[in-house]
Amino acid sequence: MKYKRILLKLSGESLMGAQGYGIDENRLSEYADQIKEIAGLGVQIGIVIGGGNIFRGLSGSKKGFDRVKGDQMGMLATVINALALNSALVAVGVKSKVLTAIRMEPIGEFYSKDKAIESLNAGYVTIFAAGTGCPYFTTDTGSSLRGIEIEADAMFKGTRVDGIYTADPEKDPTATKYDDISYDEILRQNLKVMDLSATVMCRDNNLPIVVFNMDKVGNLKKVILGENIGTYVHP
Ligand code: UDP
Repeated sequence: MKYKRILLKLSGESLMGAQGYGIDENRLSEYADQIKEIAGLGVQIGIVIGGGNIFRGLSGSKKGFDRVKGDQMGMLATVINALALNSALVAVGVKSKVLTAIRMEPIGEFYSKDKAIESLNAGYVTIFAAGTGCPYFTTDTGSSLRGIEIEADAMFKGTRVDGIYTADPEKDPTATKYDDISYDEILRQNLKVMDLSATVMCRDNNLPIVVFNMDKVGNLKKVILGENIGTYVHP
C-alpha cells in the first residue's frame, strides 16, 4: 500500500447531489461506502469537508452580510456536513470522530494535532470540521493545513470532475486533462484547482495532491491503490 495516512477533501457542493441544495442522502451514503472501502484497506483517513452546499461567506457578503459573520456561518455549515458524514459512517459500521477548529463541545472535540494523531492511530476516520476556524480562509486551505499537520502522505481532493484540466471542463468542451502537473505550473497558469494559498501551502510543505472525481462510485479506492485516474500534483 502506497499510502499509510491521507487527508481526504470532500466538497460540500457535491453533497447536495441532484437536488441542488442541502444534503442528498444517496450521495452521503455513497461517500460513506467509498470511505468504508478504503478504511478496510488499513489506510488512516482524515477528512475535511466543505460547506458550499449550505453557505459561503463570500456570497453572503455580496448579499450584505458582514464578511466575518458570513465566513463564520460558512464554517458552521462545514460542521453540519461533518456531523452528517460522521453519522453516515457510523451507520455503516465505520469508527469515526469529529474534531472542530472552533470550541463547541459536545458537537465535537476541540482540534489539536495530538488529538488528531491519537484518533487516527486508534483507527477512527477523523473529520476536521469548521475549516481553519478563521474567516477569509476556505476548506481548501483548511485541508492543506490539516494534511500538513497530520503528516499525511498525500491530500486527495474529491471533486465533480476527473482531475485538473487545461480549462474548466464544465464550461469548455475542448479542455484536456493533465495526468500530472507541478504546483508551479498550476500557479503559473492560474488553474482553478484550489485557492492560491492552499496550493502554495502544499507546495511549500511538500504535500502531494491527487485531484479525482469522487462522485463516481469506486474511484476513491482506485486512487488510493495508485490507479492513474485523476491528476497527480507534485513539486
Ligand atoms: N470558511 C472560512 N474559513 C475556513 C473554512 C471555511 O471562513 O477556514 C467559510 C467560508 O465562508 C467558505 C465557507 O466556510 O465560503 C464554506 O467553505 P468552502 O467554500 O470551502 O466549501 P466548499 O466550496 O468546499 O463547499
